[in-house]
Amino acid sequence: MTENLGLVVWFCGLSGAGKTTIATAAAKILTASGLKVLMLDGDNVRNQIHTNLGFTKEDIIENNRLISSICERERFRNDVVLVPIISPLDASRKAARAKHSPGFSLVFCNTSLEIAATRDVKGLYSRADNGDITDLVGYSKDGVPFEWPSDADLTLNTGHGSIQGIVNTLCAYLTVRLANVLPDEVH
Ligand code: ADP
Repeated sequence: MTENLGLVVWFCGLSGAGKTTIATAAAKILTASGLKVLMLDGDNVRNQIHTNLGFTKEDIIENNRLISSICERERFRNDVVLVPIISPLDASRKAARAKHSPGFSLVFCNTSLEIAATRDVKGLYSRADNGDITDLVGYSKDGVPFEWPSDADLTLNTGHGSIQGIVNTLCAYLTVRLANVLPDEVH
């Protein structure tokens, strides 16, 4: 890896696991410490860039591949690229790792389906229960299953505990990680 490439932090986890919440809080802390941080939120990318892609397995693979390509460009301009997306497929996560390694960390926001569905932040689980959505990732019978990662670099148990504590754990991990991937002048 050339020295001026930032770190790709690829979050995965069920909808409602807390990926956006944790990544947003971490982005604030990292930015305040003087780092250039970009967040590529899965929902925003889908709504603004990849508007043609849905939630079939093929579309999810393509969406993840395109986001990984955006990371490739953005790593030149940022110290950290935070990517909170469900990323349910092991193959997509491994492809992103292969593209960006060693400047890549997989952070798993680990929450049971029961907790995620109870939170139902975006109302997706109730819409799936009502039959309005038939392909909710990791939940619907016809949805793409969420493949639990066995190779996460960091697992955050986001089902319980304080958000602040979890963010602190993540930032402590990233501080060590960034010391290895960024040139000396930025830290
Ligand atoms: P995702 O991006 O994974 O779909 P969100 O971050 O949008 O999830 O939503 C997670 C919700 O869960 C937020 O409303 C957040 O405040 C809440 N929450 C409660 N406890 C936690 C926790 N320990 N870690 C992360 N999120 C939590």
